[in-house]
Amino acid sequence: MAQEANPFESLQEQIDDAAAYLDVRDDVIERLKNPERVLETNLSVEMDDGSIELFRAYRSQFNGDRGPYKGGIRYHPGVTRDEVKALSGWMVYKCAVVDIPYGGGKGGIVIDPKEYSEGELERVSRSFAKELRPFIGVDRDIPAPDVNTGQREMNWIKDTYETLENTTAPGVITGKALPNGGSEGRVEATGRSTMLTAREAFKYLDRDIEGATVAVQGYGNAGWIAAKLIEDLGANVVAVSDSSGGIYNPEGLDTRAVKDFKNETGSVSGYEDTESLTNEELLTLDVDLLVPAALENAIDGDLARDVRADIIVEAANGPLTPRADDVLTERGVHVFPDILANAGGVTVSYFEWVQNRQRFYWTEERVNDELERVIVDAFDTLVDAYESHGAPNFRTAAYVVAIQRVVNAYTSSGNWP
Ligand code: GLU
Repeated sequence: MAQEANPFESLQEQIDDAAAYLDVRDDVIERLKNPERVLETNLSVEMDDGSIELFRAYRSQFNGDRGPYKGGIRYHPGVTRDEVKALSGWMVYKCAVVDIPYGGGKGGIVIDPKEYSEGELERVSRSFAKELRPFIGVDRDIPAPDVNTGQREMNWIKDTYETLENTTAPGVITGKALPNGGSEGRVEATGRSTMLTAREAFKYLDRDIEGATVAVQGYGNAGWIAAKLIEDLGANVVAVSDSSGGIYNPEGLDTRAVKDFKNETGSVSGYEDTESLTNEELLTLDVDLLVPAALENAIDGDLARDVRADIIVEAANGPLTPRADDVLTERGVHVFPDILANAGGVTVSYFEWVQNRQRFYWTEERVNDELERVIVDAFDTLVDAYESHGAPNFRTAAYVVAIQRVVNAYTSSGNWP
C-alpha cells in the first residue's frame, strides 16, 4: 500500500493545478493555499466513572473573503490538524462553486464516539462549544455536522452557545433538528446533491442512468441517501459498503432494506443474498457509476489503475488522491468532484441559516427545488469552464471557477495591512 497522501498537501496541489489556468498573482494564490487561523485546544471532560479525559480538538478558519467561515465538525479518531485544515479549504471552494455567500471552515475532535456514552459525548460537545464560543457566531463562523455528528450534537452546541451568550441564535450552527430551528431537507441534502450531480453527469455524457450499475462506498448519511435517490432514478445499486466491508449482488440491492438491516445489526455485512467484498474490491468493481462516500484517500494512484467504473461522483470529501486523479484523467474516467457533488449539505445549511435569520420556515418542497436549481446551475457553470479553459478534468474546472470567485471578492475589497 502506497504511503497515505496528506490531505492538506492534496488541497494545495489541487489549487496549484487550477491556478495554472488563471491569470492570478502568485502571492494571491499562496494566500488561498493556507488557512487564516487554526484553533487547537484540549478539552478536559469528566467521564461517567468520575475520571477526566483529554480530547484534542481543532477549528480551522481557512478563508472569509466571501462571507462567514462555514463547515462541519467531525468526531473521528483519525482527525489531525492537517486533515482539518484541508477540509476547511475544501469548504471555501465548495461554497464558491455553488456560489453561496460563505467562506470555509472545519472542526474536528479526536475521538471514537462509539467508545463513549451519550452523557460523555454531550459533555465533550458542550466543552468544545465553550471553547468555540469566542470564534463562532451567526455572522462569523457557522459550524455544522460532518462525519459522526448530526442533529444531536448540533443541538447541544447551539444550546451551549445560546446559554453562554444569554440570547437565542439558531443561525450560529446548522444541521439542527427541526424543533431546534433545523431545516426540512437538510438530512438528505448531501446525498441529494450527489444524486443530482450523477443525473446531470449521465445526461452530459449522453448516457442513460436508468439501468446503470452503481457501487457506493460508505453507508452513512451521505452514502445511503445517495444510494436510495440514485436507485429511485432507476439505476441498479449492485454494491454498498461500510467500515465493516461490502456486499454485492449483481441483480441489485434494495437500498432501503439494506439500511433497515444496518440499523438492526450495525453494519451492511451479512445482508441476504449477497456476496461479501472488501472496500478495495468494491472500489474496483466493473460498474457504470462509483460513489465514494466515506473518508479521504479511499482511492490512491495504485488503486486508480484498477478502477473499472466509467464515472465517479464524489460524495465524500477528498476521496481521491492527486495521484489517483492523474491516473483516472489519463484513463478517461470522468470524475465529478466533491466540491460540487456533496455541496448539497452546505447549500441546505445556507437555506437553514437564511430561515433562522428570517424566523420564517420553508416547506421541504421549496428546499429541494432551490437545492436542485443551485446544483444544476453549478454543474452547468463547471461544464462551461471545463470546455472553455481546456481543463484536464472536472475537478480542475471546478477549482478554476471557485478560485476566480474568491479572488474577485478578495481583490475588490483590498488587503488590510
Ligand atoms: N460537513 C458538510 C460538508 O463537508 C456540511 C457543511 C455545512 O453544512 O456547513 O460539506
